[in-house]
Amino acid sequence: MRKISTHQIQEAVRKLCLDTNINLNPDVINALKYSYEMEQQPIAKDILKTIISNADIAAARGKPLCQDTGIGIFFINIGQEVIITDGDITECISKAMSEVYTQQPFRFSIVKDPLFNRVNTNNNLPPLIHWEIVSGDSMEIFFLPKGGGAENMSRVHMFNPLSSIDDIKNFVVETVRVAGGKPCPPLIIGIGIGGSFDYAPLLAKKSLLISISKCNKDDKWAEVEHDLLTQINNLGIGPMGLGGNTTALSVKILTSPCHIASLPVAVNIQCHSHRVNKVLL
Ligand code: SF4
Repeated sequence: MRKISTHQIQEAVRKLCLDTNINLNPDVINALKYSYEMEQQPIAKDILKTIISNADIAAARGKPLCQDTGIGIFFINIGQEVIITDGDITECISKAMSEVYTQQPFRFSIVKDPLFNRVNTNNNLPPLIHWEIVSGDSMEIFFLPKGGGAENMSRVHMFNPLSSIDDIKNFVVETVRVAGGKPCPPLIIGIGIGGSFDYAPLLAKKSLLISISKCNKDDKWAEVEHDLLTQINNLGIGPMGLGGNTTALSVKILTSPCHIASLPVAVNIQCHSHRVNKVLL
């Protein structure tokens, strides 16, 4: 067994929350630069240039990439041979996140109650934490602060199990078409297929953790991702919805076995401010 102290976790999560909000993942920057080179429309090219320069300025000045510093989502893979010492793990993660959001000029984006008491919690708490027990003696912590504009345009649909791959592709493309400029394109499209009504959206969100330059390991799904990216970019929505060839930077798909009578499909839309990062303890 390996002991990991909550003090160590708290410090690692503090750095992770700070870094993720300020420094855009190099993977995303490379995809934006590539799109800038490929883009044909002058206005779209200008917007991509501005997005890239915004990332440079944020990194140089230590400022957040976007005013919406998001709902704090964590995916934590914890080895079954790990023992947590010196306190409560959820508490230490919450403390680390609130410390960063209250000490930095990061906007608090969470309200206490979704309907009857929409009062700001004033510390961006609570985080949403997805735990997974894995083999080994280490701990992998992903942080994905998610903006409301992109999250709001995401969708889930329970398909008839006799539906074809084209039905699913049409649903994904239609979801992006309806979203238009609202989720701040160029986008990353996370798709979850299979599982259950609650699991497909989790897969869709989890697919956003995959490096956007990585191809799907399964050739048939890699082909679907590639075809969807082409169809989405052919919509002409373009950067920030003002037209162009660059509506999405990447499409990611995760799948799971499902019930014989079901075929759940979820689309989680992510904006160009695709802030995702991880730490390994
Ligand atoms: S959708 Fe993304 S880029 Fe747009 S405001 Fe929200 S976090 Fe920022």
